[in-house]
Formats: sequence, C-alpha cells, structure tokens
Amino acid sequence: MFGLMMDYPLTLDRIVERANRLFPHKRVRTRQLDGSLHDYTYADLYRRSRKLASALARLGIESGDRIGTFAWNHYQHLEMYFGIPGAGAVCHPLNVRLFPGQLAYIVNHAEDRLVFVDASVLPLYEKVAREAGGVEHHVLVNAPEDIQTDLPNVRHYEELIDEGDEEFEWRCTDEAMAMGLCYTSGTTGDPKGALYSHRSMFLHTLGENQAMGLGLTETDIVLPVVPQFHAMAWGLPYACPLAGADMVMPGPDLSPAVLAELIETQQVTVAAGVPSIWNGVYHDLKSTPRDISCVRALVVGGSAMPRSLIAGYERDLGVNVLHAWGMTELSPLGSVSKLQRHHLALTEDEQLDVKARQGTPLGGVELRIVDDEGVPLPWDGTTMGELQARGPWVIRSYFKREPTPEHFTEDGWFRTGDVAVMTPDGYMTITDRTKDLVKSGGEWISTVALENALMAHDQILEAAVIAVPDEKWSERPLAVVVPTPECNVTGDGLREFLASRFAKFEIPDRFVLVDELPKTSVGKFDKKLLRSAYANGTL
Ligand code: AMP
Repeated sequence: MFGLMMDYPLTLDRIVERANRLFPHKRVRTRQLDGSLHDYTYADLYRRSRKLASALARLGIESGDRIGTFAWNHYQHLEMYFGIPGAGAVCHPLNVRLFPGQLAYIVNHAEDRLVFVDASVLPLYEKVAREAGGVEHHVLVNAPEDIQTDLPNVRHYEELIDEGDEEFEWRCTDEAMAMGLCYTSGTTGDPKGALYSHRSMFLHTLGENQAMGLGLTETDIVLPVVPQFHAMAWGLPYACPLAGADMVMPGPDLSPAVLAELIETQQVTVAAGVPSIWNGVYHDLKSTPRDISCVRALVVGGSAMPRSLIAGYERDLGVNVLHAWGMTELSPLGSVSKLQRHHLALTEDEQLDVKARQGTPLGGVELRIVDDEGVPLPWDGTTMGELQARGPWVIRSYFKREPTPEHFTEDGWFRTGDVAVMTPDGYMTITDRTKDLVKSGGEWISTVALENALMAHDQILEAAVIAVPDEKWSERPLAVVVPTPECNVTGDGLREFLASRFAKFEIPDRFVLVDELPKTSVGKFDKKLLRSAYANGTL
C-alpha cells in the first residue's frame, strides 16, 4: 500500500517564490570592486531572476541546455542560480582559477550553449573561448557599454534582463530535471561533472538547514566566501533565501583585510570558506583587532581545518568554528561537527578535539567505512577505512560517463576517495585521501594528522606531507613546511616536536622549508605538484 500524500515537486523556483512572499525585504549586499556596496532585496532577486529566465527562453535556450557562468560571488550570479534552472536549463559555474586549457575542456565537455562572463575575468575567458567554439552566446556582466572584446555574439546582462518578462512562468516543472552542473577540482585525471537535479538540490538545502547542519534562520547574515564556482558555494545561495537570511556577497576581492572588515561592518553571523581563507583572516585579525562578536558560526570545509587554527579562533577571538566536510559529488554538504549534550561534560581541550573532527552525517546522508574488500568496519574511533556515502543528494553517476566500480559500489554507495575513522557516537575524522596516504613498511601513515600536528607548532604557518618512494619501506613521508619569518626550527627540532604524538615510523625523515605551498584552484594544498616537484628533484 502506498501513502496518500501529495506528489509535490521539489523545484528551486519554490525557494525564490517563498523568499519573495515571506522575506521580500531581506537584503543581498554585494561588495563591488571599488569597495562600495550594491544593496537590494529578495524581492528584487525574485523579479530579476524571473526576467532572466524569460530572457533566456526568448534567446532559444531549451530544457536541459547547459549555461556556463564565469563570475565571482555577486547578486547577478545569484540571479543566474535561480534564472537558469527557472528556464529549465542547467547552471554550470566555471572555476575562474583554472587554466584556459582546463576550462576549454570543461566548456566543451559540458557543451555550454551560452556563457555569462564577468568583466573582471573577461581576458581569461577570451583565451578559453578560442578553444571552445561551440558556445553560441556570450553575456557580459558588470561590463561598460563600450568594452572591447573578440568574443562572438556578445550581449550585455542588463540589456538581457530588460527584455525579460516579470510574469514569466517557471519552466522547471519536474523535480527530476537537471538544474546544476559542477566539475570536480580534479587532482587526478580529467575533471568529472556532477549533475544535480532540482530534487537533489532542494533536499540538500533542507539538509543544510537542519539544526545539526548549518541551521540558518531569518536572523542570520551570511557571508559565502566560498566561490559560487566551488561546489555551488556549498548550497548557500539556496539555503539563505529558504531561511530568509540576509546575504553578503564578497565580489572578487577575497583578501583577509577586506573579509575581516566585511564581517565587522555587515555584522555577519555565519561566514563560510576554506581553511586557507580563515588562516589569512585569523592573522589579519591578530594584527588589526576588530569586534567580530557578531559571528555565531565560522563554517570551514574543503580541506581539513587544523586543530590549532580552530583553537586560535575559539580561544583568542571567541569565535565558534563549525568544521564541515563535503564533496562536489555530495552537492556538497555531507557532515558538520557540532557538539552534542554528552560533550558538555568534557574539558575544553576535549571539546576542541570534537570540533576538529569532520562531524556527524547530516540527516539524509549515510556514511560507512570499509576495508580493501569492501567489508564495513567498526565505528570504534581507531579503525581507518575507505569512506563511502549514499543519500538523495549523493551522485549516482558522473555526467556523460558510465558508473564504474572505481567510483560506485555494486550495492549502491559512492566511493568518496577519502579515508576516515568513525567514533562510536558517529563523528568522522578524515585521515587522508586514499591517493595521499603513505604506506610505509606495510603500515598506513596519515598525512593529514602529521600536517595538523606541524601546523600547531608556533613557528610553522603551513605544512603539507607527501609520500615519496623509498627502497626499503616502499614509501616514506616527506614534510614540506612554510616557517614564520622569525622561525629557527630545524628538521631535528621538528622531529622531536612530533615524537610525543606519533610512532617513530610515522615521523617524516625529511623536512623541506619553503616560502609558499602550491595550492589548487579551490585553495587546497596541491600535493600532485609537490610530488612531481620531488620527482623532478626540485624539492
Ligand atoms: P571538492 O569536491 O573540491 O569540494 O573536494 C572534496 C574533497 O575535499 C573531499 O573528498 C575531501 O578529501 C576534501 N575535504 C572537504 N572537506 C574537508 C574537511 N573538512 N576535512 C578534510 N578534507 C575535506
């Protein structure tokens, strides 16, 4: 027997319809390049998104067409997040930090029919366009009327919006329709596309707003520092309007001083970004103190937030840190580390240990750890295994690729490529990527644990550990560290520093001091580059 409740389509137009009905006065503020703020409301967002959807339909954009966006976080990009899916098409944010060749591969693979290009990144996109001839229309955003470009078929964004109809009927009629496409940052092989549906993104939005998730409410003012081209800005462009939270969009300038100032002046309550961003902001706040007591949650994810940095925020600045884990393939939010009642009796130090974990899965996401044969492992706080996930916002196949056992199990789980430990009370710790783990003399060594420990040293700013080939042990860890300017540590000193926390075989044989660590386009340590630097003998 089946239930007798409505089959109500979970489409994203309902989110912006709701925002317009319940929160038309709530604000979206965008920091412009000149430092001024553009300021408008959810009523404006709604009206203009609808006009945009209508204008796209008039241009001949059809259901399922992919539309690229090449832009930073701003109100027009938010309009695209609603207007493109609202026209029945697929919003495909392109990462402005990639190389032209990589971007051209992605635009061609996605078969984008139209691309919105922000004037601030136009020169880069012009290089992409030379190798991406299939794009029929280009729409320039924030560009002066007389701008010179060699892109074909160019329109201006405001001109397009002006042509749109405010009464346009949304064309996302079925919750199974695709609404978004994001390519993985792809540290190995070609980038792969995750194709989200209205239903998966709607459910992700509800999941994100659970109390054990980010729990956004109407009282929040949210600063998504995470770019809209990185895993749909972690779903915040949908979670904020659903909750009625105000938004502050940072625009192109993500420098620490600018972000710290935005947090203070805009009274931000929730800010979300990767650890390298919050590392920069932390040091800025230490040198230029500000009152940021408005922040109720500093959300951090994308790579492991060092425990020492969490401690710095919590103890020195009184800021509550929310460590989250996710993946492009999970829309992206999978877990958040919030303290539960049974943690309140713990010491402050033990509570920090809990906050440094990647947390408990959101309601709707299931996680398991398995051994090499795929057999589930116990959640005992010590056993490490490959992390697998399933749920209504977890990928089941990459765009234009057959699902293979490398990524998907026979019994319906997604293989994340992460290695994790689960505690009995369901808190996950990511110990590594399967591809980054060091296997020395048959034993696994977690590079993340070593990095975390090194970054707790007061003379180390950043640390990345990689596996290097070794004749005797097959692999050994090598630590590449960025010291502070006044640093006087040596390899022996660091070895000694680690000795109380790690078994002897886990401690790197060599420590290389560098001025800077290479980062990927989404701000993670680029271990692939470090490994090839080692292979070339430049490390
Ligand atoms: P992306 O799809 O670019 O967001 O990358 C997803 C990957 O980033 C995950 O599979 C993890 O390896 C890593 N990651 C994301 N969040 C965290 C976190 N909080 N701690 C450690 N690794 C993370």
